[in-house]
Amino acid sequence: MSNPIPTQLFDRFGRKVDYLRMSITDRCDFRCVYCMSEEMTFLPRDQVLSLEELYTIALAFTELGVTKIRITGGEPLVRKGALELLARIGQIERLHELVLTTNASQLATMALPLKNAGVKRINISLDTLDPAKFKAITRTGDLHQVKRGIDAACDVGFERIKINSVILKDRNHQEVVDLVQFAVDKNIDISFIEEMPLGIVSHHDRSASYYSSDCIKADLATHFSLLASTEKTGGPSVYYKVQGSQTRVGFISPHSANFCNTCNRVRLTVEGRLLLCLGNEHSVDLKEIIRANPGDMDLLKQTILAAMQIKPEKHEFNIHEQPIILRHMSVTGG
Ligand code: SAM
Ligand code: SF4
Repeated sequence: MSNPIPTQLFDRFGRKVDYLRMSITDRCDFRCVYCMSEEMTFLPRDQVLSLEELYTIALAFTELGVTKIRITGGEPLVRKGALELLARIGQIERLHELVLTTNASQLATMALPLKNAGVKRINISLDTLDPAKFKAITRTGDLHQVKRGIDAACDVGFERIKINSVILKDRNHQEVVDLVQFAVDKNIDISFIEEMPLGIVSHHDRSASYYSSDCIKADLATHFSLLASTEKTGGPSVYYKVQGSQTRVGFISPHSANFCNTCNRVRLTVEGRLLLCLGNEHSVDLKEIIRANPGDMDLLKQTILAAMQIKPEKHEFNIHEQPIILRHMSVTGG
């Protein structure tokens, strides 16, 4: 008799993996300068996992002890059928947290259906409060539409809303105080992210744009008292509480404060590649497995278990060199 399949994922460094980030599309209505190049070639339809395949993989992971799934992209809400998929995944009993990362362009109409689908928390990308800068950074985005989306999300009352801001020197670093004030006024959280060198981007020098979390903290200290917090939300953010408010400010610092030793996550690209690390190419093709063996859940789970053995110890990002990781964040499922 074969051994029973374990119900929890561990990698070879003893890290428990209980968090899956699923990209459900590589497409997006924006073209943020740090994420995509202006001209992108998107995947042909037959290379993209179907909604059914995405659901099957989500189910397999929950049977292997994953309790948190983040739906992301590309822009997840531009995928047709996204709401139905979220609602199905939201009903998986073993899943404790279904969360979403979005650029908010569709939130004005989709916030309530998302809440009803079981989405508990939302991360919203917002790098600037200046409409012209917003257009320049996203290339196609409309700040007013995004703000309407944020307001709709606030009205609906998710358990938590967090703004994610990628800070680039001389593009938006001057706005960190305003962005925190925006979060305080809306009674939501905010995290600042150091840019990661994923994929070749045009019109933008990553080395020259690097602005460290320490610089941001120093800028914020001129206006706010940030109280260190031991709180963790299962991610790489280090949190501070803004004194006199409910707002938490997080710092995601892949360059200045490596967080790999507590890594608890893996990523699924919409092509079906299981990525074991954001900053390495180690991956396993799950699409091949499920298309060649439809309905064989045990084989899918065994493949995922085996993949844990090649999860790298840490990323090797170097902002001053050409990226060694050629996939863009939009493909990675950031
Ligand atoms: N479209 C959605 C959004 O923008 O929130 C979800 C996908 S997007 C790839 C997820 C997150 O990755 C966003 O917060 C975005 O700012 C961030 N991101 C994209 N490219 C990045 C890079 N090179 N370095 C750091 N963060 C990046
Ligand atoms: Fe689209 Fe999000 Fe990438 Fe911006 S960061 S281009 S919104 S996927």
